[in-house]
Amino acid sequence: MAKILITSGPTRQYLDPVRYLTNASSGRMGTALAAAALELGHEVIVISGPVEVSYPTGVEVVPVTSTEEMLAAAQQRFTECDGMIGAAAPCDYRPVMVASGKIQKTGQPLELRLIETPDIVATLGANKAAGQWVVGFALETDDARFRALVKAEKKSCDVMVVNGPQAMHSPDNQVEVLNRAGQTLAHLAGPKEEVARGILRIIQDELVAPRQNG
Ligand code: C5P
Repeated sequence: MAKILITSGPTRQYLDPVRYLTNASSGRMGTALAAAALELGHEVIVISGPVEVSYPTGVEVVPVTSTEEMLAAAQQRFTECDGMIGAAAPCDYRPVMVASGKIQKTGQPLELRLIETPDIVATLGANKAAGQWVVGFALETDDARFRALVKAEKKSCDVMVVNGPQAMHSPDNQVEVLNRAGQTLAHLAGPKEEVARGILRIIQDELVAPRQNG
């Protein structure tokens, strides 16, 4: 049994009180991972951006809106966990200025200046304690394997799940699971619930069991 933190869903970065930037993410993969983790008897905390899906009963859900809030919540709760799965699609950019009132139309182009938000998986990965593990997702359109391995290295991920853009808002997914050394641990395809079960089984064999057996 392990205590697992899962980040799930998109985040929002507001430009003004009514407009925001976001990412296309339904939270379905996070929901499926949470359910699969519960099935194996793990304790699950989900830090979730705004989603329509509902998480399974028995999961502790921490709702957040922005990437900064997701990072703060994840940092706070990761200390009590054995590992984390980064299944969220946090918005990578935020406006430099957030208007306090609704931005009015002027008939002219509106120029936005954006800066990068913090990377949650990379921050947690860089600060993981001895024995803690991190699993990242990489959604790639080209050079998927190579880019995913670069990300695994950059973000200190022990396991990386590579999927394509067809995963977004779809009930199905097709993934390749890689370890840090670049070895393929599995190819999984099917409904997200099935793919999530496969991912949790790998996490069990590669990350949870070896640590519990000393
Ligand atoms: O760099 P990219 O967004 O493709 O990396 C994907 C992985 O990084 C996912 O596991 C995602 O949850 C995580 N991520 C994050 N914080 C961000 C951006 C991505 O945790 N700001």
